[in-house]
Amino acid sequence: MKAAVVGGGLGGITAAVALRRVGWEVVVLERAPAFGEVGAGVGVMPNALRALAALGLDDEVRRIGTPRVAGGVLDRRGRPLTRVDAGRLEHVVAVHRADLHRVLRSALPAGCLVTDAEVRSVDDLDADLVVAADGIRSGIRRSLFPDHPGPVYAGTTAWRGVSEARFPADLAIGQTLGPGVEAGVLPLGDGRVCWYAATVAPAGGRADDELGEVRRLVGDWHDPIPAVLAATPPEAVLRHDVHELGTPLPTYVRGRVALLGDAAHAMTPYLGQGACMAIEDGVVLASLCARHDVPTALAEYDRARRPRTQAVARASRAMGRVGHRLRNPVAVAVRDAAVRAVPTAVALRGMTRFLRWTAPELSPDGGNMPGDVSHK
Ligand SMILES: Cc1cc2nc3c(=O)[nH]c(=O)nc-3n(C[C@H](O)[C@H](O)[C@H](O)COP(=O)(O)OP(=O)(O)OC[C@H]3O[C@@H](n4cnc5c(N)ncnc54)[C@H](O)[C@@H]3O)c2cc1C
Repeated sequence: MKAAVVGGGLGGITAAVALRRVGWEVVVLERAPAFGEVGAGVGVMPNALRALAALGLDDEVRRIGTPRVAGGVLDRRGRPLTRVDAGRLEHVVAVHRADLHRVLRSALPAGCLVTDAEVRSVDDLDADLVVAADGIRSGIRRSLFPDHPGPVYAGTTAWRGVSEARFPADLAIGQTLGPGVEAGVLPLGDGRVCWYAATVAPAGGRADDELGEVRRLVGDWHDPIPAVLAATPPEAVLRHDVHELGTPLPTYVRGRVALLGDAAHAMTPYLGQGACMAIEDGVVLASLCARHDVPTALAEYDRARRPRTQAVARASRAMGRVGHRLRNPVAVAVRDAAVRAVPTAVALRGMTRFLRWTAPELSPDGGNMPGDVSHK
């Protein structure tokens, strides 16, 4: 059986690796001329790590990242709003996106990946299955769902960067909420620290000095935020307006096409699950293709993935509303007091709700069914 995967991001490459594991012939068509050092840090959550384990790649990802327990949520002075007890939460592995991409790519033979290959129509692709992994601005989604409104601006602009300097190995993953702004640090395995900052702003804003903008917003917040910013080369700062599929798709499949990753369910980044969901999608799709004919596999894929990914997208949007979108000082004080008052066990339940997910096994005969139980 042959699959054509359109788009070589984390979702497309994972799907390609997984389909090869179950015996499919795969070609990945990527429009970019090369796979570069794009992006910043990605937190590989325990659910995505289990999907990578089904591909036999989890140990390598742990090796290049540092498994850590998230350190909880802080206020701008560094006082804990929620504190996470290390023994009670599974590890998150923070990696640079380019390194994760490289690990996935290394599991594919070179001939599988074709760059400089923009797909304009899926009709011409010689394949039993087309995987539309062409990202948030998916042209395939547009052609298959012409009435769908597509991505919308979520009202937030976000900066991301990676420090050049190395920081102590015991630095915790942290998220800090201030009035109208939030920031976070994600220590990578080699001591560099990835950071982000997000605030409400009109779409399309750009500054000559983006790092200066970030400093203006969070430069006097608690350690290590100022030091991490100071260690970041200004030219390496990325700024993105955050978009999402505000209107969920009615189905992720059409004919022999399966939409996957941001093409199917682009979400806001506040739960750090966008890429993780794309990774899960690829593994589940392959496991179903190993067990069923293509029409049945695609129907099952839609049934397995749509409720879960759309629930994660809703929860991520809700998280955004209580994070940096609160600007009024009184509302912020009430939020902080409320977050502090939530018992740790309850906070952990909220945080871990989507992490409890069982990856299917990827033996050529299909192994287990995807075992998700927590998409309600
Ligand atoms: C500010 C921000 C922070 C984020 N932080 C996190 C995080 O911490 N954790 C997390 O899990 N997620 C995070 N995400 C989300 C994550 O980056 C995305 O969900 C994920 O990268 C989607 O992967 P994908 O493979 O679906 O799409 P993409 O990575 O967008 O890949 C799509 C690929 O398709 C190619 N393509 C497009 N059209 C065509 C065509 N016609 N023909 C051929 N190729 C084509 C593109 O060139 C691209 O390479 C964040 C996103 C943002 C904006």
